Amino acid sequence: MSVNRIEQIKKHNAETSHNIPYDLYKKITEKCCICGFDFIVELHHIDENHNNNSENNMVGLCPNHHAMIHHREFRKQILKELMDKNQIQQN
Ligand SMILES: [Zn+2]
Ligand SMILES: [Zn+2]
Repeated sequence: MSVNRIEQIKKHNAETSHNIPYDLYKKITEKCCICGFDFIVELHHIDENHNNNSENNMVGLCPNHHAMIHHREFRKQILKELMDKNQIQQN
């Protein structure tokens, strides 16, 4: 598959399944904001409301950290790391 084709698929996914502009999607999923992994980066909604597509509600996470943030046991730890890295606002 050519790079161009992959780009097209990503653009399509960003705009149809996530309903966000591709440029923003690209920026957020550039790398995992915890470990910096940049091959596979998934979009995570901080408040888990997939309709809340404001920029500060979304972070990019690698499959590992994404699974962890949805896991009861690791959730707090990952959220703390995001806060420490100023990826999410403390309140
Ligand atoms: Zn990661
Ligand atoms: Zn998620």
